[in-house]
Amino acid sequence: MATAKKPATVKSTKGHATSSSHAGDAFGNHSEAPNVGKENPFDSMLARFDLAAQKLQLNPDIYQVLRVPDRELTVSVPVRMDTGRIQVFTGYRVQHNIARGPYKGGIRYAPDVTLDEVRALAAWMTWKCAVVNVPFGGAKGGVICDPSTMSMGELEALTRRYVWAIADIIGPDRDVPAPDMNTNEQTMAWVMDTYSMQKGHIVMGVVTGKPVGLGGSEGRRTATGFGVEFVTRAALNKWKLPAPTKATVAVQGSGNVGGVAAERFHNLGYKVVALSDIHGGIYNKKGLDIPKVMSFLREHRTLEGYPQAEYVSNSQLLELPCDVLVPAAKEDQITSANADRIQAKLIVEGANGPTASNADAILEKKGIIVIPDILANAGGVTVSYFEWVQDREGYFWDEDRVNRTLERMMVSAFGDVVNYQEKYDVSTRIAAYMLGVDRTAKFVQLRGIYP
Ligand code: NAD
Repeated sequence: MATAKKPATVKSTKGHATSSSHAGDAFGNHSEAPNVGKENPFDSMLARFDLAAQKLQLNPDIYQVLRVPDRELTVSVPVRMDTGRIQVFTGYRVQHNIARGPYKGGIRYAPDVTLDEVRALAAWMTWKCAVVNVPFGGAKGGVICDPSTMSMGELEALTRRYVWAIADIIGPDRDVPAPDMNTNEQTMAWVMDTYSMQKGHIVMGVVTGKPVGLGGSEGRRTATGFGVEFVTRAALNKWKLPAPTKATVAVQGSGNVGGVAAERFHNLGYKVVALSDIHGGIYNKKGLDIPKVMSFLREHRTLEGYPQAEYVSNSQLLELPCDVLVPAAKEDQITSANADRIQAKLIVEGANGPTASNADAILEKKGIIVIPDILANAGGVTVSYFEWVQDREGYFWDEDRVNRTLERMMVSAFGDVVNYQEKYDVSTRIAAYMLGVDRTAKFVQLRGIYP
C-alpha cells in the first residue's frame, strides 16, 4: 500500500507539541491534497468530549479531570533482532481514567503509532466501557514497529520486553490489555506468560483476547463483528430504514471486525454489496457471496481479480450507493474532504475513530445517522469483560451464553444512547459521548478526589 506518510508537527488542544502522522488517501481518484480533512485523533476525541460536556453542563472540576489522561508511560523496548543486532523500539501505555474500574484497552503494533493516537484510543475506551456499562476505565498501548517485517521470534521478544517495561502498572485489578491492530491471541498468550513468570504464578486475568483453552473466552473472536450487526439491526428498526433482509451494506476492512461483520450480515440475509482490504475493494450492486469472497481473500491475499465484481479503491467504497456503510479498517477515513459524497443512510463505525470530527456537521446536515465507534464496536470489550470475569471465577461459559449476553448488553446500550439523543436532542454520536461521560463523571463525583 502506498501510504504516503507525511509527519506533521501539530499542536494538540492539550498544549503538547506532538508529531502526528496520518496516512494520505492513497486510493482516491479525487484531486484534493492527500491530508485534506485529516485530523489528529486526540483532537477529534476532545472536540466531541467538549460538546458532550457542554450539553451535560458538566461540573467544571470534573471536566478538568476527565479531559486529560491519568498517566502516560513511554518506554524503550530493546530487542535483539535475528541479525544479532539490537534495535530499540518505542512503546506507550496511556491510562486515561480509572474511576469506574481497572483500566482496559488494547495494544497496537504499527509503524505510524503516535502518542496522540494512543491517547485518543485510551479516552475512547473510557467512554466505550461506560456506554456498555462494563466496570472498566480506559487505556491503550502501542509500539512503533512494522510487524510485517519482523519474525515470530522478534515479535515475541518485543512483546515480552514491552510487557516487562509496563508490568508495574498493569494487572487484573489495575490495567488489563487486549489485542488491537497487528496483535492477536498469540501476542496475548505471551503477555500473560511474561506477567505470570514475573509474579511466580499464573495470572490469567492480566490480559484478555487469549486463546480459548488458555483462559480465553468463547465468542471473543467474533464479538466485535457480531456487536456491529446487533446495533445495525437495532438502528434499522428504530429509524424505519430498510429491514435487514432488504438493506444493502458496504464494509471497509475485512479483518477481525469487518470480515466477521460482513459474514454475519450475509448469513442473516443483508445484501453485502462491497468489501475491502488494505489494497482496495470489490463492489457488486446485486450482492457478494461473502464466504466465497473471504476464501478468495485468504487464498490470494488480495480482492483484485475476484470474478463478477468491480474493483474499487478504499475511498471509492466509502462513497458507493448503499443503505449501511461500515468503516471497519482504521481512523480518519471519513473527513470534511469526502463526507459530502457519502451516500449511505446509516454509518456504523466498526473501526475506532473512522470519522474525523470535522465531518460530523456535514453528515448531520445530510441526515446520515451515525452509530459511533464507542457504541458500535463495543462488542469486543464487552466479551473481554466476560473473559476477565470467567478467568477470575475459573468457570467458563459456552458460546451461546456469551453471544446472548453480548446481544442483550449491546441492545441495552443502544437504547440508553437513543434515550440521551431524544432527551437532549443531539446526534447519536454526541448522545453516546454524553452517556459515557455522564456515567464516568458520576463515579468521579461519588469517589471524590484523593487525598
Ligand atoms: P485487523 O487488522 O484484523 O483488520 C484490519 C482490516 O483493515 C484489514 O482488512 C486490513 O487490510 C484493512 N486495512 C488496514 N489498513 C487499511 C487502510 N489504510 N485502508 C483500508 N483498509 C485498511 O483489525 P481489526 O481488529 O479488524 O480492527 C479494525 C478496526 O477496528 C481498528 O480501528 C480497531 O482499533 C477497531 N476495533 C477492533 C476491535 C477488535 O475486537 N478487533 C474492537 C474494537 C475496535
